[in-house]
Amino acid sequence: MSEEQKKADDRLKAFTESKALSDRMGRIKHKIMILSGKGGVGKSTVATNVAVSLAMEGEKVGLLDSDFHGPSIPTLLNIEGQKPSSDGESILPVDFAHGIKVMSMGFLLPNRDDAVIWRGPMKMNVLKQLLTEVNWGDLDYLIIDFPPGTGDEPLSVAQLLPDCDGAIIVTTPQDLSTNDVRKCINFCRQVNVPVIGVLENMSGLVCPHCKEIINIFKTGGGEKMAKEMNVPFLGKIPIEPQIVEASDSGKPFVYHYSKTEAARIFTEAIQPILNMGERGTTESTPIVSDEATEGTFKIAIPVVKGHLSAHFGHCDEFIFFNIDLEGRKIVGEEKATPPAHEPGVLPAWLGEKGANMIIAGGMGTRAQDLFRERGIEVLIGAPSEEPGKIVESYLEGTLVGGDNICDH
Ligand code: ADP
Repeated sequence: MSEEQKKADDRLKAFTESKALSDRMGRIKHKIMILSGKGGVGKSTVATNVAVSLAMEGEKVGLLDSDFHGPSIPTLLNIEGQKPSSDGESILPVDFAHGIKVMSMGFLLPNRDDAVIWRGPMKMNVLKQLLTEVNWGDLDYLIIDFPPGTGDEPLSVAQLLPDCDGAIIVTTPQDLSTNDVRKCINFCRQVNVPVIGVLENMSGLVCPHCKEIINIFKTGGGEKMAKEMNVPFLGKIPIEPQIVEASDSGKPFVYHYSKTEAARIFTEAIQPILNMGERGTTESTPIVSDEATEGTFKIAIPVVKGHLSAHFGHCDEFIFFNIDLEGRKIVGEEKATPPAHEPGVLPAWLGEKGANMIIAGGMGTRAQDLFRERGIEVLIGAPSEEPGKIVESYLEGTLVGGDNICDH
């Protein structure tokens, strides 16, 4: 087969896949992302209990666990050994109590540790299969437990599942100071998904004797931060020994311990989801970067001789693309010559220029951290192509970050 023919076939295959995906997704009324800045904060616990709470209200619910590194939903629901079936054309999710349909990366892994050793392209293929080939049928809500963080994996999930209706950001009181929530809010903005609200988990401790909540850390931080960032605050879920017990025994907490304070908070937290109108009527995500131009999103690309520079610090100039996120298109571009490359200088300069994201070939981990601390997303491993084409394929969802080309 000629190279041209192969390219055309690939394009057709991509089109057919995306058509099948949009047909399936069209049967789901609302898709809700559950995000957290890092693992271990209770994201999967929240995803499970939000799904069960909605099902207890009579809604038709699907629960998708797209977390590669810790697909814990099968454990939380005690359905670890189950395997999804197939109708010959698509994968059928596993049926759980309350009519909930469940699909997890964990069902596709022969061994829980396998995912850890997979390399980028292999991960992408399995992820694509998980997201595109599952037939959910008609659903009111699909709750998606995202991979933790705001890096390439959650971004790939968001690109493969466009048009999510809203996101719940899960955090703990200890993580409020780490900028994690800000990064999650910026992530939502980047993928054009409204923030439903911030849910503070493990906030205070329920005394096993008197059931009063003991506040171990200073309280009110999450609420204050949400207010400052102009996003709704959904509530504080205490550290509840019965949540651990429920997770360990695979019993959904909100159902089996419905009389507890934590279950009451879950019920309150899902109200904005239950009251959700059509897409776009929930509160929209605020502009996070003070410097950003209202309504546009700025992607910066380091360029050398008209192509993406393999190392961002050794480029001739940066091109800034202004993006209309709603229309997913480039609405303007400008060029600027950066100051001399010294540690920390470029993240500060790009921050001043209002960049929301940088797409690069390679970059040292320290520089990546500096960008992320400023709320600027980093996508690395992009090819040395013409910058406009890179941004277009990013907007089409076909740009996949690969290995860090040059990491110094
Ligand atoms: P993540 O998905 O963010 O990695 P998990 O939902 O798997 O986190 O939760 C991590 C651990 O913390 C689990 O053992 C879970 O039972 C426990 N946990 C989560 N939320 C609470 C809570 N509010 N009280 C007590 N334990 C909790």
